[in-house]
This record gives sequence, C-alpha cells and structure tokens, in this order.
Amino acid sequence: IKISKSYKLASRDFHPEDTVIDIKGVKIGGEELVVMGGPCAVENREQIMEIAKHVKASGAQVLRGGAFKPRTGPYSFQGVGVEGLEWMAEAGEKYGLVTITEVMTPEYVDVCAEYADIMQVGTRNMQNFDLLRKLGTCGKPVLLKRGFSATYDEWLNAAEYILAGGNPNVMLCERGIRTFETYTRNTLDLSAIPVMKQLSHLPVISDPSHGTGRRELVATMSKASVAAGADGLIVEMHTDPDNSMTGDGVQSLFPDQFDTLLRELQQLAPLV
Ligand code: PEP
Ligand code: MN
Repeated sequence: IKISKSYKLASRDFHPEDTVIDIKGVKIGGEELVVMGGPCAVENREQIMEIAKHVKASGAQVLRGGAFKPRTGPYSFQGVGVEGLEWMAEAGEKYGLVTITEVMTPEYVDVCAEYADIMQVGTRNMQNFDLLRKLGTCGKPVLLKRGFSATYDEWLNAAEYILAGGNPNVMLCERGIRTFETYTRNTLDLSAIPVMKQLSHLPVISDPSHGTGRRELVATMSKASVAAGADGLIVEMHTDPDNSMTGDGVQSLFPDQFDTLLRELQQLAPLV
C-alpha cells in the first residue's frame, strides 16, 4: 500500500505495540471484543434507561446514544442536548456500562467529557480540526469515525491531530463510505479494518449500522467485521425503532436481535 505517512504518532512504525485503552476496566484493543450498543439518539430518560437494561443483559459493555445529533437538514430533530448527557450518565451508572456520545463542537467538549466516558467524533466532523485539537486535551478516549469520503491517509491524519494534542487514547471507526451504490446507505469498507490494523496501532471499531443502513444486514456485517480483525463494534439498537426520533430506526436492531447477535459473536471472540 502506497501511503504518504505524513502522520507519525498514529503509525505502527512509530508505535509497534497495539494500543489498548482501558476504560473502567473495559479494555479496547486487546484480546476481547467490545460491543457498544444503544439508540442513535437519546430521546428521553425512560427510553435510554430501558435500552441500557437490554444492552447490559445481552452482555455488551458500552452504551451508545447521541444527545447532540449532526443532522443533514436543519429542521430535523437535533438531539435533546445536555439533559440527554445526564440521562446517559445515569443509565451507565445504574447498569455498570461505559458510555459513548457524540460531540460536535469544541465548545461542547468539556460538558460531554464531564458526563460520558468516550467522545465520539462523527463522520461529518472527521476533519473539524478545531474539534480534534480540543479533544487532544479533553482527558477522555475518543472514537474517531472515518469521514464518508475520507481516504485512509486523511483519516489517520485526523487521528494524528488528537494524538499530537496529547491524547493517546484514540479508536478508529469504519462506518461506511460513499460509493455509487444506493441500495445500502453507505458501503462498509471491510478492507479498512485490516489496513488500519496494519498501518496503525490504534484499536479499530466497525459500525455496521451506518455502514449498511439496513437492519437485516447488521448481524452479517458485524460478524464479517470481527473476522476482518475489528476490536469492537458499535451497533444501533432501539426498543421501538419504527418510532425513533431520527431516521436510523430502519438500521436499528430490536433488543432480541441484538441479544442474538451477541450470542453469535461469543462464538467468534470472547467478550470482555
Ligand atoms: C451516529 O453514530 O448516530 C452517527 C451520526 O454516525 P455517523 O457520524 O457515522 O453518521
Ligand atoms: Mn445514527
């Protein structure tokens, strides 16, 4: 693979050992598979508490949920904001789950870092360099989603911004790229998983939910991602996906499907 290697700290040449990120005892990038599950958006307190219960019961270790949503259109639901962070933190505490939430602007990094365990950078913000710089000093691990039109080199350089800012705890998340195909919402680039493991020492997470946009493909692509070497998965799950407040209900698993997926994953790799 010919690649410019303008990044350094993200490179395996610089750091041959796999980075393992320990968050409250959950180790990401080590031997065990880490599964992050939950709704696209935190909608209300009852919703996130109920979903957290299912996430825990299925054996996943991390609760996902966006309080700030990066919507394509300005009139769409934009997330519940800071209140959602409080509910997520409460749910994480009650069920003993690590939490991950998206942060969209440098101004909100401090409050997100106060309430959540992992900071998610969305695909639309992969090259929001002010945000990346701020995350370099936030003190919390960061999950950096690949921009939907970003090359591997651009993606690793985005990670480099966070690392260079002083934060060594970065995960790379493949969430699908834009191709000519419209049947799937995005094209999950499975090759990105072994390539990132080769070029970088950072943990690699796969997002088969946004990567396909179709519930019926999520389990298959989850297993394919694990076979390709992913250290973890981030999967959307909702108790009432038909009435979810974002359009992502169509790609969200029902709790029983999430549970079945976790059983199947246990056959492939041990969970933390
Ligand atoms: C999400 O995780 O709900 C999300 C908005 O993801 P992405 O940035 O990959 O579109
Ligand atoms: Mn979503």
